[in-house]
Order: sequence, then C-alpha cells, then structure tokens
Amino acid sequence: MNTALRLAVLPLLTVLLATPVGAQTRRATPEPDLERTAAQLRDRAATDATAYEFVEGLTTEIGPRQAGTPAERRAAEWAAARMRRLGFDRVSIEEFPLAAWVRGEEEAVILGANPQRVELDALGGSSSTPPGGIEAEVVIFDTLEALQAAPAGSLRGRIAMVNRRMTRTQTGQGYGPVSAGRSGGPRAAAQAGAVAFLLRSAGTDSHRFAHTGATAYPEGRQPIPSAAVSNPDADQIERLARRGPVRMRLVLNSTLQTASRSQNVVAEIRGRERPDEVVLLGCHLDSWDQGTGAIDDAAGCAIVTGAAKLIADLPRNPRRTIRVVLFGAEEVSQPGGQGLSGARFHAARADAPNIVLAAESDFGAGPIYSVQLPAAAAGTEFARAFSRVILPTGALFDASPATGSGPDIGPLIAAHRTPPAELQQDGTDYFDFHHTPDDTLDKIKPEALRQNVAVWAAFAWMAAESGFDFRGAPAPTPTR
Ligand SMILES: [Zn+2]
Repeated sequence: MNTALRLAVLPLLTVLLATPVGAQTRRATPEPDLERTAAQLRDRAATDATAYEFVEGLTTEIGPRQAGTPAERRAAEWAAARMRRLGFDRVSIEEFPLAAWVRGEEEAVILGANPQRVELDALGGSSSTPPGGIEAEVVIFDTLEALQAAPAGSLRGRIAMVNRRMTRTQTGQGYGPVSAGRSGGPRAAAQAGAVAFLLRSAGTDSHRFAHTGATAYPEGRQPIPSAAVSNPDADQIERLARRGPVRMRLVLNSTLQTASRSQNVVAEIRGRERPDEVVLLGCHLDSWDQGTGAIDDAAGCAIVTGAAKLIADLPRNPRRTIRVVLFGAEEVSQPGGQGLSGARFHAARADAPNIVLAAESDFGAGPIYSVQLPAAAAGTEFARAFSRVILPTGALFDASPATGSGPDIGPLIAAHRTPPAELQQDGTDYFDFHHTPDDTLDKIKPEALRQNVAVWAAFAWMAAESGFDFRGAPAPTPTR
C-alpha cells in the first residue's frame, strides 16, 4: 500500500473502529466519496498480490480441471477455501449434474509410401473410432459453409477437413468464424456421410499443438469422431493434397460419463444497504485437460477475486452485494448440444432477477484497453467519473453500450435481460495458447494482471456503491 493511500484509508477505519457497534447505523457517517474510493482501489491494485497468488496457486496445486471430473471438484473446494480466507462474507458451492467427456487414446498418421504422424486432439464431445481406428481419404474444405454445401452421401467413407485459418486480432474476432467450424463441422460432415471430421486448429500460433474445444451434435444423430489438427500439420495435409490423394489412419478414444457433477463457487460481499441487489463478477473455473488453464480461465477468476478482495478490505461494505461466481463447466457441451451448464444453473436461481449488472473476465490476462457499460450509463456523471478513474490504467471508456460479456453471462441476459458490462482485454496472443497444452502460468504477465484488477475493482465498487440503475433508459442524446 502506498503512503497517500494509507492516509486516505486510515481516517475511515478510525471512524468505524471508534464507533460502538449498533451506533453505526444511526450515526450519520460521512458519505464516502465514490470516485475517490474507486481511485484508491485502483491504486491499491498496483501492489496487491491476491490475483497472482490465486492463479499461481490454482494452476500449481490443482492444475488441469476439466468439467465434471474430480479435478474440477478439487478446484472448487480449493477456491472456496481460498475465498473464505480472503474474507468474503459468504462462500458456497452450488452443484449440478453434468455429462463429463474424458479424452482417451489419440493417434493420427498420414499413410502411404512416406508415412508421418499428425498432431491432433479430439474435440470435446467427440465419439470414438471403432477398435483399430479408421482409414480413409481426406477431403479438404476451405470453410464450414463449403462443407455444409456438400451433397448428402458425397463424403461417404471419407474424412472431411475444414481448413480455415484464423486471423490474429486484438479483439479476438478472428475466433468466431473458425470456432463455428468446430461446433458445426462434425454435423455437416456426418450429414454428407463422412466417417470423421478434422478441423485446422482455431489458433494463431505455428506450434505443433492442436487447439481442442467443444463441439456439438444435434440430438438423434450418430456422432462421428472429430479432432483438431495443429496448424503446421494442417499445412502439411494441404500441401500433400495438392500432390494427390491423402489417406489417414485415426484412432480416437474417449468416454462420456453421464452421471457426473459439476459446480459453481459463489462468494459474496454482502451489501450494507441493498443486500438483495447484486453486482455479479464472473469467470469460469473449469479448464481443458492438456494445459493448466492459466489464461483460460484461472486468470479471469484471479482478476475478479482480486478485485473483490480489495473491496472486502475496505472499512465498510458497498451498498449492494458483490457476488463473485466461478462458473463450472463453461467449456463443454452436453449431449444434444447445449453448453454453459453452470451459467444456466445460476441463471435459474430464484434471486437471479435481482442481479443489477453482470460481467465476466474470460479472455486471458492481457491488459484492458476499453470498457463498455449498459446503455443506461451513456452520457451520465457515473460514466464520466468511471472514465476518469480508469484512464490512468490505460483503459478507455467506450460510450457504445455493452451488448454482452463473457459466455457465462449469456444465460442471465437471455433469461432476465440482465444488463452486461464488457471489460475488453488485449487478446492479440490469446489464441496462440488457448485450449492447448501451452496454456500455462508463464504466459501471464503479473503487471497486466494487476492492471485488470485495478479496472475491475474500480468498476465493481462504483457499480455496487453508487446505486446506479443500469436497467434504466439511456439518457436522451443532447441536440443542438
Ligand atoms: Zn474460457
């Protein structure tokens, strides 16, 4: 803590400590300055180690924590214990059923006179190949749309591969078109009669790691085995296919454990005046199985926990409740295709309509460069004050309204029209590591993590303390 900050926080502490219990509610304590306290929280984040200790601890002591597995359960217990120790008022684990997909043996070889191994990983939800695997010719499509246009039966006995390259961007918007191939590709391939589906990895790196991820099969269809191949291997298959037919052998084994459980960890700082109004800060606790899920999404959980902890350390709680939710099972789809089981379970809680604002950190640990609030905040003093507070961190206030946030906020928006906020992180290198064995702690820069905590702490404090109505109508645009 720096000296200026210590001086600013101490008088408040002194007032509270000197006030007899019971007198606090009657005595007119000075109204804390919303903006000044937000700035203090921002500055305290610069020296606070909570977030880094969280991500270091979770990735080291638990490691991979795939949805529905005992490791995810251990992660939830680890996180709940950590949050109790950090001083949250109420910490609980909410459990829900889940079908857990677990990876097994994986092998791929290009056959012929010059056989060679291919690096691949099954996509989450993939079925297994028959005993001994399959051997078939690969048919390459540039896009998902091209595969979808393949006539029924035209790929009988073949392996369909979608070969779309992902574009590197700061916003991550190159991911959507490629991950669409991941979710929709297996279905389209099966409809055209293919025996397996391959995807050029949804990743921007040139390493020989495949990027896994969930895929979805519609109900009632026999699934086919599906996998992502690393970018260099996709290049190789592409070059070989220009020279002649490419045959591959695939062995993909996995199991679906239909009677598993997953869980959300819920930790609250109880509102001192409006405890029923909730500002929700989310992340997801589950990860893919190969790496330790440092950027996806231990970092996000560390950021929102670290931000809330700074607020919990204030002399008194904010007016509204701050609820940190570490969602379970974000990464996986369920048989039938539906995902986000933890988020859906939380959105079905009786008190979910009381959530006045929700945001999720699920894009690694790159610095935040802009923040969008719900439409109601545009042009208000609240937005101006928030903009002033975050500017020294390098994050800009973007006056265009947030239309969404991280994936786990989606079910709240759909069910309750919960106003979202979006804290946009620089994701330029995020998809070099995302869903690969390379998603590990060394990819996280502590300084960027602290910048995230600074912005989230200011954001959460101002949202919870101000009483601002985020569901309200936007202010009329001034005309001249
Ligand atoms: Zn994630």
